[in-house]
Amino acid sequence: MTVLLPGATLGVMGGGQLGRMFVHAAQRMGYFTAVLDPDASSPAGRVSHHHVQADYLDEAGLAKLASQADAITTEFENVPAQALARLAAQRFVAPAAAAVAIAQDRALEKEHFTRCGVPCAPNAVVNDEQDLARIGDDLLPGILKTARLGYDGKGQVRVRTREELRAAWDGLKRAPCVLEKMLPLAFECSVVVARGRDGAIVHLPVQHNLHRDGILAVTEVYAGNVAPDQAQRAIEATKAIAAGLQYVGVLCVEFFGLEDGSLVVNEMAPRPHNSGHWSIEGADVSQFELQVRTLAGLPLTQPRQHSPSIMLNLLGDLWFARGAEAVTPDWAAVLALPGTHLHLYGKTEARKGRKMGHLTLTGPSVEAVRAAARQACALLG
Ligand code: ADP
Ligand code: MG
Repeated sequence: MTVLLPGATLGVMGGGQLGRMFVHAAQRMGYFTAVLDPDASSPAGRVSHHHVQADYLDEAGLAKLASQADAITTEFENVPAQALARLAAQRFVAPAAAAVAIAQDRALEKEHFTRCGVPCAPNAVVNDEQDLARIGDDLLPGILKTARLGYDGKGQVRVRTREELRAAWDGLKRAPCVLEKMLPLAFECSVVVARGRDGAIVHLPVQHNLHRDGILAVTEVYAGNVAPDQAQRAIEATKAIAAGLQYVGVLCVEFFGLEDGSLVVNEMAPRPHNSGHWSIEGADVSQFELQVRTLAGLPLTQPRQHSPSIMLNLLGDLWFARGAEAVTPDWAAVLALPGTHLHLYGKTEARKGRKMGHLTLTGPSVEAVRAAARQACALLG
């Protein structure tokens, strides 16, 4: 396939905030964009040149997207892989349906990690009663996770005993699950890589992540946030995982750093990732530009981080910091701090636990950016 130069139309399956930031990056470079999403007011649909309002498996909708777009990517890992396979019959699609199908299933994903020689947490699949009976006590306490469709800590239950495990599996409607041993986490980190059609791979620096209630809260990216040898291992592991999938596009892999200094892989996302948002302002090439470049077949250059960066997720909870009525936070006060970059995704209703936007802080030094982040947190309550 030839290189798609600006002026072509790039399509994306899914209209959430990741699609919105992809659209922004593509439009800045002179591309036209098309989004398929069932929601009339989806964050990406509202800013795209074209919005196909249809379900992900709607045949007419997929045909329309394929007629509008010269190449198509995805922003949402739960877009059914068969929809991508259907589009690929007509257009270049990246990442490929086969890679997305693996990332959509925790059991397949773990098999892939193991094939690539990257260790994950001790685990066992729970598809039926026999699997449940076979679970060894060595996996407890653990976390039972649905194999498919989990995100932001949803579809997960922490269990201490076999009784709790059984109750949790019943609670998850006996869906196919993976039980993972609960590990003593020293820290969490992630790596974003982009791999081109020619196999070239570039990466963003290691991102140190703090989760609250299973949802990403803070990402810090600066030298020393993760010990250099662990950072290097995480980058090499992510490249191996991408290469093993023959992956084309942007891939994010999440890791757990354990107290004994070892590193285990948690999960991967076949798309840009919340923990990579800082790269819009903190690096010379963002994860969304990398997505554009891989989709269009443009060259990949190694991104360079030019500023220490901290990203704070803005959840709907902030709107309720002062009471039961939703109140818009004082953005003007936050923007008075140096090096703040506000992103709001245009979601109409603030709800607790909903990702409404994020705030990236960049600065001349780690101290400066940490001080600004502390002040922003104090202002936001
Ligand atoms: P999601 O798809 O919702 O992001 P994850 O598997 O990444 O699900 O889990 C969300 C968070 O829960 C992780 O970032 C981590 O903080 C915690 N967690 C998940 N698995 C484990 C584990 N095996 N041991 C300890 N903490 C875990
Ligand atoms: Mg996760």
